[in-house]
Amino acid sequence: MSSPLNSDVYLGLRQQMVDSQLRARGISDERVLAAMLRVPRHLFAPERSRDQAYEDHPLPIAEGQTISQPYIVAIMLEALALLPADRVLEIGTGSGYLTALLAELVTQVISIERHPSLADSARRLLAGMGYDQVTVIAGDGSRGFPETAPYDAIIVSAAAPGLPPDLVEQLAEGGRLIIPVGRDDSQQLQLIYIENGKPRTTLRELCRFVPLISDPSRDQ
Ligand code: SAH
Repeated sequence: MSSPLNSDVYLGLRQQMVDSQLRARGISDERVLAAMLRVPRHLFAPERSRDQAYEDHPLPIAEGQTISQPYIVAIMLEALALLPADRVLEIGTGSGYLTALLAELVTQVISIERHPSLADSARRLLAGMGYDQVTVIAGDGSRGFPETAPYDAIIVSAAAPGLPPDLVEQLAEGGRLIIPVGRDDSQQLQLIYIENGKPRTTLRELCRFVPLISDPSRDQ
């Protein structure tokens, strides 16, 4: 854990991140900005890259995965227009950084991660930070988590080759899904909104995420 001196240094870096990477580029949702100022991103980074935690790029974590760039995280959270009473499904817990941000913004977060080791360390870290409204599940989330559907919002941190119909079906009326869609070198964020029972898609920013891996055994 950081010493009080380190915490001050990191708070300064976090403030700079919010001002120069987020506000200056048009992120204006004050709840998102406040959450990103509060959550200690460096605690979700591996020790060796902790000093880069507030820089303008993704960070490598275990199992060949990454924590997304702060700006792309902010774009996705802002697009979801989360309300405090929302129930949210997150697919791809990774380090748990985005999970912590979600927990700052809504009442209940269910997060699925296919690498059990990542799910375990995120679960432990988030519980230690007091995020009681989070449930981390180890498993394949490529078809969502129908057990506790419907959700007010679903956020996917890994790129799917196409829009997964199961995820759209697990949204409540008025629900929102944000997901990167496409292949390795050409992906775009898609925002889906359920209006009068029908999905409406808006194409958003180009992006680059690790792939959403679906477990083939579930097709049998
Ligand atoms: N938002 C995360 C970023 C994690 S990177 C963070 O803040 O750290 C994307 C994660 O999606 C990886 O950890 C990867 O293992 C996970 N993932 C990929 N396919 C998945 C699937 N089918 N189900 C659940 N998690 C998946």
